[in-house]
Amino acid sequence: MSDYPVRYHDHPRAAVELPEYHEARAALDRLVKATVRESLEIGSQEDWIAMVADMASTNVYNDMCHQCDDWSGTAFPYRTQPDSTGYLVADYRCPACDHRWQCWWSIDFPYLFDPTY
Ligand SMILES: [Zn+2]
Repeated sequence: MSDYPVRYHDHPRAAVELPEYHEARAALDRLVKATVRESLEIGSQEDWIAMVADMASTNVYNDMCHQCDDWSGTAFPYRTQPDSTGYLVADYRCPACDHRWQCWWSIDFPYLFDPTY
């Protein structure tokens, strides 16, 4: 039994054939290389995988920077804290202007795979 955290997977062909699938994988590869280049302390490989899973599970909570007030300031939460009342507190950093803010979301909204969203 290996400690190497790879599990069997076979992603749906329809998703694999999308250019966005390859772009997302390439972006993860660039992120790994950037953390190495910058000598960032991410933690173990399991910590890295947990971070990527957090990114995927909270991507739907993206928000627009009110300093930029356009989609160039679209940010994704870098920290989230679900509370006991059904809300998620999310912290953001705008990649365009470095503005930081906090937002509260209903934890069951929006649905990740809601086709109307
Ligand atoms: Zn901004």
